[in-house]
Amino acid sequence: MNIYGLTYAQLENYLTSIGEKKSKAPFIFQSLYRTQVTSLMDVSEINQRLKTQLADTFTVTLPQLVDKTDGTDTVKFLFALQGEPETQQEYLIEAVLMKQNYGNSLCISTQAGCNMGCAFCQSGRFKKVHNLTTAELVSQIIAVQKLADCTIQNIVLMGIGEPFDNYDNVMQFLEIIMHSHGLALGKNHITVSTCGIVPGIEAYTAHPCHGLLAISLHAPDNDTRSRLMPINRRYPVEQLMKTARQYIYATGKKVMLEYVMLENINDTPEQAQLLADLIGTDKFHVNLIPYNATENSGFTQSSRERIMAFYDVLKKNNITVTMRREFGASVKAACGQLRADYENKTLLPKECNSL
Ligand code: SF4
Repeated sequence: MNIYGLTYAQLENYLTSIGEKKSKAPFIFQSLYRTQVTSLMDVSEINQRLKTQLADTFTVTLPQLVDKTDGTDTVKFLFALQGEPETQQEYLIEAVLMKQNYGNSLCISTQAGCNMGCAFCQSGRFKKVHNLTTAELVSQIIAVQKLADCTIQNIVLMGIGEPFDNYDNVMQFLEIIMHSHGLALGKNHITVSTCGIVPGIEAYTAHPCHGLLAISLHAPDNDTRSRLMPINRRYPVEQLMKTARQYIYATGKKVMLEYVMLENINDTPEQAQLLADLIGTDKFHVNLIPYNATENSGFTQSSRERIMAFYDVLKKNNITVTMRREFGASVKAACGQLRADYENKTLLPKECNSL
């Protein structure tokens, strides 16, 4: 078993089960997450016998780097995961490092492929073939910190996959990366982004390890949103916004509404007004995202004029709104683009064979 999948409490339980003291757990967590040892024989402050026992029981496994694309402020990593030993199936996932003036943020994947089928999304082209394990989630961070020789301050679960479609592993992952002997990331430094799985948002809100919440909204009305995002047929806009408000009231935190600007689809001033009405005076923050146009997507990026007109309507309604700069267009950092590009060029897309 990969030791990155163990929570601190599970590690303590393991130590007790082999007759060791729980007080060894901080040294093991610190060696894994601060010193970033590659072998359990290098864990400091524990005796040789325990090192050997750990090394015989656990592995320290990181995802294998397949490709890396450097941009000015963005580095995109394509990793291969080994998957289950029985199937020997290899999975490709992406992680994107964004160097921002408030620290390094890492956007990680939660699934290989995605079943949510959002019309504008590259990842949606590849059906889900694997829920990332807790260890695979955690080890993306360690791998990037080592490869880029940096410290990650913020984690965003906005890569390939829908986090709440892999809920248990994602929440265990959050517990590990928040732990004070581990990466010690605070709640305000972790954002989980969902396409709108209402029961997932409810459970996340009630969970002690919740971080911030972002919702991929992308349209203020059910007709447009259902065309763009099939999940809307199950959890329509009104129900989604009601659940988002429950998160706001329970946590006191804002909810980020992601809104990708698609020309003539969701970018009219009328739609901006509908969005403003939907938000009212509650603590939402709208993030307008210029679409990273891809070949054969059938969508084009809204013009700057249309984006500005949309922005102005929201501003006039006193809505908090920002415009994301086109982070990572040069490194194909739109969801699933590097992977899609790599597979088109070099691999027979395993999952696509069945499409
Ligand atoms: S936008 Fe997110 S939820 Fe939708 S298909 Fe892409 S990865 Fe899945």
